[in-house]
Amino acid sequence: MSKEVTYDTAADAEVIKGHPAENAGEGLPQSDFTADQSLGCHSGNTMAEAAANNKNSEILEKYAEDYPLGPHDKPQSMCPAFGSLRVGLRMRRVATVLSGSACCVYGLSFVSHFYGARRSVGYVPFNSETLVTGKLFEDIRDAVHELADPDHYDAVVVTNLCVPTASGVPLRLLPNEINGVRIIGIDVPGFGVPTHAEAKDILAGAMLNFARQEVEAGPVQAPDGGKNDRPSIAILGEMFPADPMVLGAMIEPLGLATGPVLPAREWRELYAALDCQVVAAIHPFYTATLREFDAAGRQAVGSAPVGYDGTANWLSSIGEAFGVPSKQVAKAQNMFLPSIREALKNNPINGKITLSGYEGSELLVARLLIDSGAEGN
Ligand code: SF4
Repeated sequence: MSKEVTYDTAADAEVIKGHPAENAGEGLPQSDFTADQSLGCHSGNTMAEAAANNKNSEILEKYAEDYPLGPHDKPQSMCPAFGSLRVGLRMRRVATVLSGSACCVYGLSFVSHFYGARRSVGYVPFNSETLVTGKLFEDIRDAVHELADPDHYDAVVVTNLCVPTASGVPLRLLPNEINGVRIIGIDVPGFGVPTHAEAKDILAGAMLNFARQEVEAGPVQAPDGGKNDRPSIAILGEMFPADPMVLGAMIEPLGLATGPVLPAREWRELYAALDCQVVAAIHPFYTATLREFDAAGRQAVGSAPVGYDGTANWLSSIGEAFGVPSKQVAKAQNMFLPSIREALKNNPINGKITLSGYEGSELLVARLLIDSGAEGN
């Protein structure tokens, strides 16, 4: 009998079997990458200049438009690619593959497993030669072909980290689909993507774009539990498990229901989200994802029901988006606002609070603190 003591089912996770790089040990020594100070997290300018000279510059220009830099990206957070990696790892039947320096992949895999990924993070290694000759792209393409088994996966996500993005490794040239498995290539370099939040948007937006094109091309899978008979809102942003239920209870008096949350946990949820008439953009960083909702003709309502005025405004914006009669909206507001006013009155905050966070949820918390009387910092 085994004496091994286990605390969870992590040991049962299926491990993707890779194989050693053909030319490992040949050519330039591996340390050329790790020892070169111009190729690390703090060499953004050097890599951005390199990327500006290849086709990936178009992607970086788009990121610069979508994700303005500002105080939120300083000091630099840990590798932003963790955001998109986590979105992929949380989805059912989705494989994730990283293309980047071994030290970056080590750090990202380590943190993924720390957060309970319970599945393999694929990696296509490279050296100077495979990078400059284009062999790295061929290796990525081979890896994707090997992984694309429709019995196991709905999609394979390949992510270019800093060095392959700066070197112009062209993930856009990967096939869209292999054996019915969608192939999604994204570039998430630390020098073009401010934080995790924007990285999550890059993958969520790329997936929604793919799903939108599938919807336009013909019938798609129905939602798992069937379609809700009430008009629904999709929810955009990271949620605690109870949040959609609370939001659902708040819009129930308007005759509405909550739909799926994006970033999604399953591919078919993307179709269901696109099927919702309105998307509630709870967090502010999902520019690419909102662009897809907009292209699908769906209306977005920003912010969240937080505090007294915030809740009143949110309910009236949601009601307006669905054309709910103002009397019905007022009735819903009267159900929730008095208790919010009471709670704020009974729990005043006197003082200055320093608040930090990421992904935008801190903005909602700040609003609540200010409503409670706190001075922001
Ligand atoms: S991929 Fe991430 S860890 Fe690697 S150099 Fe870029 S920002 Fe740093």
